[in-house]
Amino acid sequence: MLIWFCLSKFRLILLLVLLSGLNGAPALALPSSLRVKLFEAHGRLESVHIRGPFDIVVPGQKRISKTEWIRVSSRNGQIELFSSGNSHHSFLSCQKLVVQPLDRRGVRIRINRDTIERAYLGRLNFSVGDTAKLPSLKIVNELPTFEYVASVVGSESPVRSPPEAMKALAVLVIAIVEQKGERSLVGDSTKEQAYKGCEHATPSVFAAVKAVYGKRLFYKNSPVQAFFHSTCAGGTSRGVDIFGKNAGPLVYLESVPCEYCKDSPFWDLKVSSLPLSTMNQAFGGRLSATKYDAQDRPTEVKILDGKSAGKVMSGYEAWLRIGRTYGWGKVPGTRYQFRDNNEKLVDIESSGAGHGVGYCQWGGVGMAEQGKTYEEILRFYFPKCNLRTIALRAPR
Ligand SMILES: [Zn+2]
Repeated sequence: MLIWFCLSKFRLILLLVLLSGLNGAPALALPSSLRVKLFEAHGRLESVHIRGPFDIVVPGQKRISKTEWIRVSSRNGQIELFSSGNSHHSFLSCQKLVVQPLDRRGVRIRINRDTIERAYLGRLNFSVGDTAKLPSLKIVNELPTFEYVASVVGSESPVRSPPEAMKALAVLVIAIVEQKGERSLVGDSTKEQAYKGCEHATPSVFAAVKAVYGKRLFYKNSPVQAFFHSTCAGGTSRGVDIFGKNAGPLVYLESVPCEYCKDSPFWDLKVSSLPLSTMNQAFGGRLSATKYDAQDRPTEVKILDGKSAGKVMSGYEAWLRIGRTYGWGKVPGTRYQFRDNNEKLVDIESSGAGHGVGYCQWGGVGMAEQGKTYEEILRFYFPKCNLRTIALRAPR
């Protein structure tokens, strides 16, 4: 659950990209393939284990086929490959290599002493990382957009998502991918969209993505930028209230009351006690919310005392900085309140998870469980928008 939460809540870079691009109507053209930088949230990778069946392709060398686990390490500016039974002598040393799976099970990759294991389709491009002195590996997965979208929908969806909720999410994920150019390089964490490999693209996810591949949400005559979050816990907020008036033409992002997300683990109020000393360090004083929107999300936060006394920031900005300072699990949602505790601690109450704008994913699950279609779900969360079909078919 924690992993799901971490991987489905905050999309900072995505939001910045979206907000910066809101003034232009995007072209409706999905790239045919994308490149994904793997394990971007996991720090420097010095070595990984991979398992086939796969082919290893090194420019100018004979193709090597392997089935068993092998270790891929970065050493002295080279990539070295070791068989599982021989950890001292590499059987291949090169600067770059490509690993291609030989069947739909994909190439399995284990990292961090086997705590994470995922499988990938497409091409895996291994190269020596950019880290100047320390050995590091860079792994970029190149794959067809359709496969990528299916994996993202599977990776982002709450575990028990019914098909109609997955379809609603797929429409929004496709809209985000449509902003990307051909073979764009994207990350695999929730800084953009979570992508956890081919095992999350189950047959039911593929069916959902395929069913809506040509569906787009429009506001008036422009396709909209997609916004979604985990749990609104009572109601979504207007885009302009959370992201600010200068963020772009967000008028289609309305506030809607939502109790469909009641089964979310983030529905109930959460209280976190945070050290005042670190708040003073991070913000230059104690914080107080001074303005709220109609959904009780702070829109203005003021620094009460200390060296930055009197300074104001948006509630969303304060929330982002609290997340970066204390970790994202402390105040999961943008509906939060400061409560004085004592001279050493400040309590923050919050409900929901994520920014609270656009589609509430747990709400979509609740609506689908009550028999609503994805069209009805999207109409509910985007009441000013309409769904259109464009001339685009999903690959077979
Ligand atoms: Zn909701």
